[in-house]
Amino acid sequence: MQEITECKNGLIGFSYWVASLILSNIHGGGMISSRKLSDLHPTVSKMAADFLAKAESEGIDVLVTSTYRDIDAQDALYAQGRSKPGKIVTNARGGKSWHNWRVAFDVVPMRNGKPIWDTKTPENFELWKRIGGIGKSVGLEWAGDWKTFREYPHFQRTKDYPNGFPR
Ligand SMILES: [Zn+2]
Repeated sequence: MQEITECKNGLIGFSYWVASLILSNIHGGGMISSRKLSDLHPTVSKMAADFLAKAESEGIDVLVTSTYRDIDAQDALYAQGRSKPGKIVTNARGGKSWHNWRVAFDVVPMRNGKPIWDTKTPENFELWKRIGGIGKSVGLEWAGDWKTFREYPHFQRTKDYPNGFPR
């Protein structure tokens, strides 16, 4: 039971707990996957808060789905769809995602209390473009603008890392 009580976010899902137990045998701990803005770098945390406030003022509900992930959690995510079952969800190994360096977060816009994952219908695409614009207006980079590995949910600020990932 120690792994559960040690988790800083309190209670966690059973499957996550099992996965963390399995991985702790390999990596020796870690597996932090946070949705809290306070786990981001203070500058990015402030930008994220501004972003959410501005979206709300424009009548758009936005849910934060991910902020900081440690390197073990990133490696586990990378394994999904490769050495582990599931769909491939990332191209970044541990250390090669800005989430690992506390300067990126993922969101999904809500409509009538439901997350809108679809980006294809004109109405939904418009909603994603609006939140992308709001993110950029507070100084964030939006991965929805990227030509390769485009990711509508992903926002980041990497100015403090001009030479790329620290490791
Ligand atoms: Zn992301």
